[in-house]
Amino acid sequence: MLDDVLAGHRLTEEEAVRLLSTRDRGVLAIAAAADELRERKVGNVVTYVRNQNINVTNICVNACGFCGFSRKPGDADTFFYGEAAVREKARAARERNVTEICTVSGLHPEFDAQSYADIYSWIRDEVPGVHIHASNPMEVAYAAQKSGISTREVLEMMRDAGLGTLCGTAAEILVDDVRRVICPDKVDTATWVRIIKEAHGLGIRSTATIMYGHCESEADRARHLSVLREIQDETRGFTEFVPLSFIHPNTPLYRAGLARAGATGREDLLMFAVSRLFLDNFDHIQASWVKVGTKMAGMALLSGANDLGGTLFEESISREAGARDTEYLDPAEMRRMAGDLGRVLRQRMTTYALLG
Ligand code: SF4
Repeated sequence: MLDDVLAGHRLTEEEAVRLLSTRDRGVLAIAAAADELRERKVGNVVTYVRNQNINVTNICVNACGFCGFSRKPGDADTFFYGEAAVREKARAARERNVTEICTVSGLHPEFDAQSYADIYSWIRDEVPGVHIHASNPMEVAYAAQKSGISTREVLEMMRDAGLGTLCGTAAEILVDDVRRVICPDKVDTATWVRIIKEAHGLGIRSTATIMYGHCESEADRARHLSVLREIQDETRGFTEFVPLSFIHPNTPLYRAGLARAGATGREDLLMFAVSRLFLDNFDHIQASWVKVGTKMAGMALLSGANDLGGTLFEESISREAGARDTEYLDPAEMRRMAGDLGRVLRQRMTTYALLG
């Protein structure tokens, strides 16, 4: 089957399930095939983006079972950054020469569409020209509901306020039976797909993600990949695919015994490799060092991935779920990781134009 893929065969969902279920040394053969495809497609450059997160609030009306970040109004350790604080953080980002500012936050009970537009315009004021990578289909749906307007209108407001690309998060696993367990209050699969297509149709590109390693099956992962591949066939709006390995320790889902303790190394490798083999219409696969650590991210670069994501500077979503060392990854360390594999590190913009 791997030879067929290298010769141009498009994997079926059933074949993806078989690959994702591999438990022997075949895993390494799958990784090698993915690495070969990566080399053919994007060569030997490993990319990263100089970015900073601004998580505006951890107060959220939802209670997703995999989330260790959100707090209910009135909890002791909530935070909420108003205009002055967001502007200050944006100025700090400017000092660090970031090209991208990423904001994703809890669904604050007071937020509506204008709140998101305001946040983007404060950032745009302070750092003119920075790429704002923000929100996701859940936030778009929430803003639409709170403001009594359509999701398309919310996207247009966000774009006009400075949104560059939409985060493809809130995808988790695009299978409603799984979503009912891990995030029952989130948008369902059809709504996530509709909003992503709307964004792409408006010229707002997005990332694509999967959050795996909790209670989903290999078939669920393959279904998810298939949904993304179909969207990409239609819109070509995804910039990259980002596998997000479940960080379990501080999450209600794990504590309630409803999820396993995250993906194993085998599952992580297969996720990167099978994504590269299956998503033949994506150029870029990102290894999220925040989720898998730098050592596994290095192995991901040998298994189909070609991008190390962002420097970040400020990260709290994975840290609150129990991940360690999530604050900042120095490009010097990324260069060491790439060089160790005989590859070259290059800085990129959000949409993959190379810098320098
Ligand atoms: S994942 Fe997002 S929507 Fe869900 S509880 Fe956490 S912050 Fe809220």
